[in-house]
Amino acid sequence: FLHSVNFYSVRVPYKQEKIVVDFVDVENMAAWIANQGLDNVLAGVTGYIEEDFRNWPAFDKTPRVASHSTHGVIELMPTANDDTYSFKYVNGHPINTKRGLQTVTAFGLLADVDSGYPTFLAEMTLLTAVRTAATSAMAAKLLAPRSASVMAMIGTGAQSEFQALAMRKALGVNTLRVWDTDPEAVEKLVNNLTPLGFEIIQAANAHDVLDGAHIITTCTADKTNATILSDDMVATGVHINAIGGDCPGKTELDSALLRRSDIFVEYPEQTRIEGEIQQLEDDYPVIELWQVLTGEQQGRTSEDQITIFDSVGFAIEDFSALRYVRDHVTGTSFSTKLDMIAEPQDPKNLFSLLPSGNG
Ligand code: NAD
Repeated sequence: FLHSVNFYSVRVPYKQEKIVVDFVDVENMAAWIANQGLDNVLAGVTGYIEEDFRNWPAFDKTPRVASHSTHGVIELMPTANDDTYSFKYVNGHPINTKRGLQTVTAFGLLADVDSGYPTFLAEMTLLTAVRTAATSAMAAKLLAPRSASVMAMIGTGAQSEFQALAMRKALGVNTLRVWDTDPEAVEKLVNNLTPLGFEIIQAANAHDVLDGAHIITTCTADKTNATILSDDMVATGVHINAIGGDCPGKTELDSALLRRSDIFVEYPEQTRIEGEIQQLEDDYPVIELWQVLTGEQQGRTSEDQITIFDSVGFAIEDFSALRYVRDHVTGTSFSTKLDMIAEPQDPKNLFSLLPSGNG
């Protein structure tokens, strides 16, 4: 008997049916998005985010856990419903592009709430751009003027093409007016989006870019409070999609502009720390997007209204994006298996997984 226990615990320590985690690496994520069409993935992820936002009360929610340093921030973004837990690891280092690195990189995980075992792991640098753009599209569908056909894009870095494609898919906006302090970033966007049929106008400055725009997307990266849009620059009736202000001390909009507008947010407890509204009083009224989706609050109510989506990025959007990818790649060639869970034959005998003679 002792001999057989020893035999199984040392020679065959693993369970016969190993539990493995489905994994999507960068190459597979890029190939899968190309295979599906980025437009379709953006629309699909938007649908999943809308579904999860409508179920808002069912989620555990907390502001993300941020670790700030001289050049940036590293954040963990957890959430869960009764079945599934998720988290994303993400950084934000505006200095990085000067070092040949990206401002934002990320990966994320889904787990089974019942067992606590991880089930799905994916790169999320590409997927963050997708889900941020999908969330912008969700907000713009609720808030942008009906006749919107021109978007001004200030900041043409890594997120910008995804934002443009998501707006076109959701609202048909095909004309882009673009401005970035870095001319090479503008040229990059023009090269990427012209072949996709966008009409692109390169503006001379941040004032000029707003001319005739119905939607204004600010998507700049700086580790300071910047005034990308001052109050006097913005005409009535526009929708502002403010992406870049997403950390304490990192904002893009003039506080007077905020006060002239109706402000829509993801999770107020997090946005008051990180979003444009960190510049306002702690109890300044904002509208939660999920309540607009469920009909408890109204979106755009007049043609003259300025609406602002004060986007910071919330964990439920990552949950939705991971869920969408998992549902579509599991069992396909775009997903591989990862042996991430140490599983001894006897669950109490973890020691048995070590080669004999250790310890
Ligand atoms: P990026 O560094 O690739 O691009 C930012 C661009 O902004 C650069 O091209 C830079 O030249 C330009 N810029 C900086 N200051 C400017 C100014 N004053 N006027 C015009 N252009 C200016 O960064 P990215 O990955 O595209 O991210 C953009 C911003 O969005 C970052 O601040 C990032 O933290 C934020 N972000 C937010 C979310 C969200 O969910 N809200 C998600 C991802 C990224």
